Amino acid sequence: MVLSATAGWAQVLNSGEDWAEPPTGTVAIRADRLFDANAGTMLANQVVLIERDRITAVGSDVRVPPDATVIDLGTATVLPGMIDSHLHITPQGVQSLPYETLRALQQAQANALGGFTTIVDLSGRHTWAPIDIRNAINRGLHWGPRMQAAGPEITPRDRSMAPTPLTIDGEGFEGELFVAGPWLARHMVRKLKHYGADWVKIYATQDFEGDEYQHFKPNGTMVNSPSVTLEEMEAMVDEGHRRGMKLACHAFGGEGLENCVRAGVDKIEHGNEMTDEIAKMMAEKNIAICFTLQNMINTPNSDLPRTGGKVSRLSLTIDTLKKSLTFGVPIAFASDTNPDRHGTQAWQFAKYVEFGLTPAQALQTAFMGAANVLNYGWADRVGSLEPGKYADVIAVSGNPLDDITEMERVRFVMKGGVVLKNELTEIPAGLMTSGATR
Ligand SMILES: [Zn+2]
Repeated sequence: MVLSATAGWAQVLNSGEDWAEPPTGTVAIRADRLFDANAGTMLANQVVLIERDRITAVGSDVRVPPDATVIDLGTATVLPGMIDSHLHITPQGVQSLPYETLRALQQAQANALGGFTTIVDLSGRHTWAPIDIRNAINRGLHWGPRMQAAGPEITPRDRSMAPTPLTIDGEGFEGELFVAGPWLARHMVRKLKHYGADWVKIYATQDFEGDEYQHFKPNGTMVNSPSVTLEEMEAMVDEGHRRGMKLACHAFGGEGLENCVRAGVDKIEHGNEMTDEIAKMMAEKNIAICFTLQNMINTPNSDLPRTGGKVSRLSLTIDTLKKSLTFGVPIAFASDTNPDRHGTQAWQFAKYVEFGLTPAQALQTAFMGAANVLNYGWADRVGSLEPGKYADVIAVSGNPLDDITEMERVRFVMKGGVVLKNELTEIPAGLMTSGATR
């Protein structure tokens, strides 16, 4: 009795490894349609062949070995796992830090179940929780999406009135992450790297500060006070890039946005007031634009009364979207989703289409569009269904090129050869993680 109880404990304690381990043997996924994320076209009668966590072949004439496990998804459409390059899994400081971390893990997992198998957390608000959650997933303690994370943000505007979050060695940041000179800026970037950040998130425009204005002046122009100088921005970009990090700027417009683009950050969040000159520079430097609709969609309610009905952050975002198409600015899917909504952000595709993208273009933002901005060159492992890439595969029942809202109803999710969600067909229990139940 004692021995079996001990064995039971051992099994529970080791069960974390089950989340991470893909099945042995060949798996073949078959479906009526497959979205070619590179070409933006729909292919008929396709098979995806998988060995452990990687895709080995894709096509209509792929030979399926007789001993392969076949997952027949019938009339469904198979697509790569989606990538969201801007979200926040941590709630904003209303509970204890342990509770917030557990909640953030659950929200990370909700993304995976919604079909977003790769996510970038662009600021843990006042915490380092997303970095710990990324590590816990990578080490097999929990199942969840592939993650890159920024940790706390630099120049956090009104977000971090509380003391700077302590790191594991009990140290905070000098200056509470508010940049005061290029050398302090470099120091902050070094510290973010030291504690495991993949990204540096910089608030480059101080659009909330003061009681006088909220985002807009009465004449309808945005506030856009730059948070840092060009010299400070260049110091952060130089320091981040030489340490293998990528940099993302919250920037609405004006000098703040221009500083980010001139300094050569990797992506721009929001970019509401994008001039032709900035759009041209972003296209030349291959800097991606991120529309962050969760943040923008309801802004007409608050902004139109302040601008005499002239503009809102949403109307400017729609202008930016059209300008991005005109000038060829790369577009990366970036929802800016906060807790309670994770896994549901695919509603934004329908808005992209309403604002001017084709359904194929809208989908592509969450595949190679987002993959191309990921750190560590992850475009070679996620973002399309191709041999050598991770077996991150999702499926929807209908054809999303006919009805883009199909992406809001993801029925099947596989991450690295492990099925996290399946509502479409009977599959062997060994392919399904016991962690995700729906
Ligand atoms: Zn955000």
